[in-house]
Amino acid sequence: MRLNGQGVSPGIGIGRAIVVTRGTANLRFRIPERRIDGELARLDTARAQARVQIGHIKQRIAAAVGADHAYLFDAQLLLLDDPMLVDRAATIVRAERLNAESALQRALDEVAALFDKVDDPYLRERKGDVADVVGRLCMNLRADGDPLDLFRDVDGPLVLVAEELSPSLIAQLDGDRLAAFVTDAGSWTYHTAILARSMHIPAVAGLRHASGLIPPGALVAVDGTSGVVLVDPPPDVLAELEARSRKRRAYERTLDEMGDLPAVTQDGTTIRIDANVELPEEAARARERGAEGIGLYRSEFLLAGTGAASLDEEAQYVVYRRLIEAMAGGRVTVRTFDVTEAQMGLTHGAESTRSPLGLRGLRLSLSFDEVFQAQLRALLRAAIHGPLRIMFPFVTGVEELRAARTAVTQAREALRARGLSTPDVPIGVMIEVPSAALTIDLLAVEADFVSIGTNDLIQYCLAVDRTDDRVSGMYAPLHPAILRVLRHVVRGAKRGKLPVSVCGEMAADPVLLPLLTGLGLREFSMTPAAIPVAKQVVRGLRISDTTRLASRALKAATSAEVEQVLAESLSAVKSR
Ligand code: PEP
Ligand code: MG
Repeated sequence: MRLNGQGVSPGIGIGRAIVVTRGTANLRFRIPERRIDGELARLDTARAQARVQIGHIKQRIAAAVGADHAYLFDAQLLLLDDPMLVDRAATIVRAERLNAESALQRALDEVAALFDKVDDPYLRERKGDVADVVGRLCMNLRADGDPLDLFRDVDGPLVLVAEELSPSLIAQLDGDRLAAFVTDAGSWTYHTAILARSMHIPAVAGLRHASGLIPPGALVAVDGTSGVVLVDPPPDVLAELEARSRKRRAYERTLDEMGDLPAVTQDGTTIRIDANVELPEEAARARERGAEGIGLYRSEFLLAGTGAASLDEEAQYVVYRRLIEAMAGGRVTVRTFDVTEAQMGLTHGAESTRSPLGLRGLRLSLSFDEVFQAQLRALLRAAIHGPLRIMFPFVTGVEELRAARTAVTQAREALRARGLSTPDVPIGVMIEVPSAALTIDLLAVEADFVSIGTNDLIQYCLAVDRTDDRVSGMYAPLHPAILRVLRHVVRGAKRGKLPVSVCGEMAADPVLLPLLTGLGLREFSMTPAAIPVAKQVVRGLRISDTTRLASRALKAATSAEVEQVLAESLSAVKSR
């Protein structure tokens, strides 16, 4: 079987499929023979827990609204022992060597299909009860350990096949076991893809139906460059892919040497290249690849698998300090949590909004004072150990920057009251909302630096959701509007003597570096894997040429025309 999607992290990965559907709720994979008994025991334990839990619920309901209403839960208790459910799942585990969760899901699908055939509406509605019981059993299976421990003893390299993969799930995975990711949803700047690239794991997104089509245990070859995914490829194709994968690794090793060279253009302009990291362990790789510092540490990845409430000041301080020390004097820019309420594991009241335009980034931090203060105190304490900058995400203008500065002062005073004095830390903001870009002259007066987050800036300028694969084709970094907004920010920053960098994915695209330097940008931060190529490109540039290139690109009326200008300049360089 051959599937086509969008390659979002280059390279070739080959391994056995593990299928994840409905978030992390349902992991489908084949287990080795030796694990069958353990899997059956997990099912039994989950059933025993469910019996106790449903019993408690029944008592509570009976006490609150009367025994009449509690009878519904008798039906659920009976379902736990129905041979078509847990026992059927056990048969599937034995016969097909599927993990307990996916066997239960299959049993549920079979029962649901039977209910659908029944005419009686009352009986049909009982399907909901069955789903409820299965949901509870799956919840108990999950609680019985880290869901990701489940496939720790499944053999060989793995290809994770998912409807959608959250960055937090990836952050918890053992990168060495993963050969590739493929997802139904997603697009190039999707956070999961960003993380895949920084972990050097090939990935293909936007496959739409892969999680339904690829059976768990199938051998999957993923080409993260072309976006092609082959399921159970014939041996000759497989051998060819393996050979290509070896070649690519050899090429990457040669590029690594570039990492040590300075990023200076032919006409002597020094370009600063920093790394974007999501996990503190990546700092070492960032240095190996030639990063001067960390230009963007996405601190929200610390929240993976835990809520902000359980991530206290001390735990954060240890991480930030480690990051600073790992960079050995290289500047580290930490962005405060950029998440939505739900991702932070906290909500204001019962309703939490999932909208990316809702309570997220700095505005979320400002509304959860305790969490924000803990993060700021941890950062200020860590700053004693080396050059640190604090950057705020999703800032819309000066008002929010002022509020954030006040919060920093408050954190500093709290530390002073504990007898700790902390150094001055530059405070900056991400330019990723059009209102911030448009008010760059005002921000320049009050911020110490800014970094352009082109990923969000593009999606909010063009009104295109970067995670929606139906419109992600309209996500156009080269749209004339984006070029103008970048020019505006660079000019405003220059006039206000405000250091400006780019940390969005545009910086990581070597084809765009001539254009960005031509627009006047001199600092970039990108995934470590992209640094050697970026240095190679920078070392071949002449700023006088790139300035001309940018002014030609700015005259183009469409993204395609801008692309044409870039293509022409590339071929001109090649023919020199
Ligand atoms: C950006 O928006 O460009 C950015 C770097 O932030 P993130 O991708 O984490 O939203
Ligand atoms: Mg952003």
